[in-house]
Amino acid sequence: MTDTPLKLFNSLTREIEIFTPVHPGEARVYSCGPTVYNYQHIGNMRAYVFSDTLGRVLRWKGYDLTHVINITDVGHLTSDADEGEDKMEKMAAKEGRSAWDIAKFYQEDFERDLARLNITGKQHPRATEYVEPMIEWGKRIADKHCYELDSGLYFDVSTIEDYGKLARAVTEEGEGRIERLEGKRNAADFAIWRKTPEGETRQMEWDSPWGKGAPGWHLECSVMGEALLGFPFDIHTGGIDHREIHHPNEIAQNQAYCCTGGLGKAENSGARIWMHNNFLVERSGKMSKSSGEFLRLQLLVDKGYHPLAYRMMCLQAHYRSELEFSWDGLGAALTRLKRMVMAVGRWKALQEERHAADWHADSWERHPKTREPVERFRDAVSDDLNTAEALTAFEDVLSLKKIDPDCVLSAMSEMDKVLGLDLENLSREDLRIRPKSAEITEAEIEAELFRRKEAKIAKDYATSDAIRESLAAKGVEVMDGDPLGWEWNLA
Ligand code: AMP
Ligand code: ZN
Repeated sequence: MTDTPLKLFNSLTREIEIFTPVHPGEARVYSCGPTVYNYQHIGNMRAYVFSDTLGRVLRWKGYDLTHVINITDVGHLTSDADEGEDKMEKMAAKEGRSAWDIAKFYQEDFERDLARLNITGKQHPRATEYVEPMIEWGKRIADKHCYELDSGLYFDVSTIEDYGKLARAVTEEGEGRIERLEGKRNAADFAIWRKTPEGETRQMEWDSPWGKGAPGWHLECSVMGEALLGFPFDIHTGGIDHREIHHPNEIAQNQAYCCTGGLGKAENSGARIWMHNNFLVERSGKMSKSSGEFLRLQLLVDKGYHPLAYRMMCLQAHYRSELEFSWDGLGAALTRLKRMVMAVGRWKALQEERHAADWHADSWERHPKTREPVERFRDAVSDDLNTAEALTAFEDVLSLKKIDPDCVLSAMSEMDKVLGLDLENLSREDLRIRPKSAEITEAEIEAELFRRKEAKIAKDYATSDAIRESLAAKGVEVMDGDPLGWEWNLA
């Protein structure tokens, strides 16, 4: 199969560009990671499904991928623009635990969610491991680009060219997030170092030339990106909210550090391509971390949904479009995944029959019927990650008729390297809706259904109806003649 150039939308130029690696044969990607003061909501997880899909496409195209997702365990204030309280210390006080414990606990929870969504193979460095290089960075830029106030060392955004080019226009929302601070030279100036106020101690604080304190949040991504990937690296990702404050500030620090001037040359920004996923939105406000029980992956699992149904839901939309969450939408994504799993099951059964008959396996690449949709799939993902269209090509392969099952299954595996839906291993049973609150086990349901079948064979309809009703009382819907072949559903 010939390759198609990978085209990606670069937020910095607002144009689709052809990906050309900085280092031949390699792809280096940095994705802004979570602030581990709380659980991640499913909107946050959309950002990592997106960057994982990007990484998978790069790997599929043969690049040797290095992908970093940093863990913010210090420094992020309740506002992105360096005002408010420290998120970690605030949560530590609320939960009566140390900030270090909080960080460890929520990082582990985040990593569990990543694994459940098949997001693997990334580095997860912690900001607290990079405080020394952050101080060194600050020292290098302090004279020319920073000034000190009582509260810390601030970056003067007027000292570099093109500040805010990435954001383009400062919106009212963005502006509203920047509070006025006495002594700041420009509203957009931000902290490189935040001094611990006189007479106070922080749980997380370090000595620095600007006094005891903690680094500003934006600094960590510049420092870790440079330390782990080298400037310039290929792609920097994050959610669309980062396009207004966090990433312009990172870029400003990078320009200052590299002494590179304006952004006419993309390399000057640290990363050549900046990509942003749009938001997952939820109308009732359950995604807000302050809303008590907010929408996290575990809640979906507790309600009985397989986590990969959520991955499917994300893949159905383009990463640059807003995606509205609803339980119906999640249910539809699950059904789509079930159909795929069942199709794969049918092809596997056919493959076993053929192999038993000493069949010579073929590969998808040699068969035009499979090659064509795989090429369509390749073109779709190469076109700024059009996963919605890629899924259609994927289904076209699964619904082929009268063709060697080895061709179909090898094509399926090939495309699933990008989709990450684990269709090789996922079974029908894995995808059953199993709410945590259910009182009945699957074995009990199966036993009851077996009794009902026997009663029906014996034409004892009273018993068969009674079994159906008693199952219904326990939340089990018996689905005779379900077109998807699911005999029951636990709601
Ligand atoms: P945070 O921990 O707030 O820094 O967020 C982690 C990542 O999730 C960042 O890349 C955010 O831009 C992204 N993000 C936050 N909320 C959403 C959302 N509702 N939909 C998609 N991405 C989001
Ligand atoms: Zn970042």
